[in-house]
Amino acid sequence: MMRVAVVGSGLVGLATAYELSRRGAEVVVVGNRAPGTGASTNNAGWVVPAESGPVPAPGVVLQTLRWMAKPDSPVYVRPELSPSFIRFFAGMLRACNAGSYDRAFAATAALARGTMDALDAWAADGMAFEMHAAGELRAYVDAAAYRAAVADLMRYERAGLAAEPLTGDEARTAVPALGDGVVGAVRFPSERHVRPQTVVDALVARLDALGATQVRGRVTGAWALPSGGAELRGGFGSLRADALVIAAGAWSGRVARLLGSRLPVRPGKGYSVDYVPAQLDMGPTVMLSEAHVAVTPLDGATRVAGTMEFGRLDERISAVRLRAVREAPGRYFRAWNPDAPSLAASAGLRPMMPDGIACIGRLAPFGQVYVATGHAMLGLTLAPRTGALLASAILDGADPAELRPFSPARFGA
Ligand SMILES: Cc1cc2nc3c(=O)[nH]c(=O)nc-3n(C[C@H](O)[C@H](O)[C@H](O)COP(=O)(O)OP(=O)(O)OC[C@H]3O[C@@H](n4cnc5c(N)ncnc54)[C@H](O)[C@@H]3O)c2cc1C
Repeated sequence: MMRVAVVGSGLVGLATAYELSRRGAEVVVVGNRAPGTGASTNNAGWVVPAESGPVPAPGVVLQTLRWMAKPDSPVYVRPELSPSFIRFFAGMLRACNAGSYDRAFAATAALARGTMDALDAWAADGMAFEMHAAGELRAYVDAAAYRAAVADLMRYERAGLAAEPLTGDEARTAVPALGDGVVGAVRFPSERHVRPQTVVDALVARLDALGATQVRGRVTGAWALPSGGAELRGGFGSLRADALVIAAGAWSGRVARLLGSRLPVRPGKGYSVDYVPAQLDMGPTVMLSEAHVAVTPLDGATRVAGTMEFGRLDERISAVRLRAVREAPGRYFRAWNPDAPSLAASAGLRPMMPDGIACIGRLAPFGQVYVATGHAMLGLTLAPRTGALLASAILDGADPAELRPFSPARFGA
């Protein structure tokens, strides 16, 4: 039986561990915090192949420069003079063109295909989590932005994703809580949402039942073994495995460095806050397009989530930027109180790659060392398929076509 160590107990590590265990591997998950702490539980909860567009896009550079002057803007870059920072943003700049955007969208949408079936299979396998199949509405308050969105709808059809343009009135019929400022929307009827903590808890419980070992501790040393496997060391002692998966989110670059590999992953911080009781009565999730804020109806709560802050590996909350997230729904909904009763706000670090798409596959020059990170704004959506495809690469030696665009080889890693 193959023994596989997975570093990182976020959604990507847990989903990969689950797929490996389910298929008979002996799995050890090593995580330095309670499973899911950070991005994997504080995210917006959207399962949305339709949001496959990467951050680097035509026009993003100018927009980001304008936004950098505003402390409460949706995207913020904290400039640094380090070579890795300069390399990362030079790479992102190169990806800000229509061709790269189209390829990234198509590759990510192809990886996301089958996600809903995978979640249904998880549920059928005994995992109980809060899931809603109510679609997504991308709402616009700016007429030019809405027209541009409608002009881009063919992209979704090509990727096999259902998308329908709605007028402002049609949007208000679909979600009566929307206000008169909304000039139009795009509805994605097949999208879903979940309460991410319940997915993490379900995966942890299922891994236990399958006999996987879950170890708490930070990996501080890693060596590739001549046999192809790896040895890990940390507060937990040391352990050896026939294969290693680095799924340490925004920290994956640090873990890869222990083996001598360089991965250009950087954190993109975001915040979320749950209003309890729910402030809005609605079925689908709503994207506040211009504000880049996601509004999620959960059982008994309304979650708002947003901002993308390129900075350091810390989860500190900026009061100004959190305020912007809390206030954003006021421009889109009839009634919204940013100061209504809410739980404590939380932060998460999205693992970001310079070209905006995930980094999944075998790390050269090692035998059986793999990485699964860089899922950016879609780690929840992409975790089930990442886990399944990586498990077949590790256990069957498969080379799934869906994973090829995500190879770490594109960074020379
Ligand atoms: C505000 C916000 C909203 C979002 N909304 C959505 C959404 O609606 N839909 C969606 O699909 N995605 C969304 N995302 C993105 C998604 O949350 C992330 O892509 C995903 O959580 C990344 O998961 P991960 O497992 O790769 O990383 P993480 O969840 O960060 O897990 C990595 C784990 O590795 C651990 N670790 C790090 N270093 C070590 C070490 N040396 N030893 C041991 N353990 C280590 C970390 O502590 C962490 O627990 C959102 C993110 C944010 C921040």
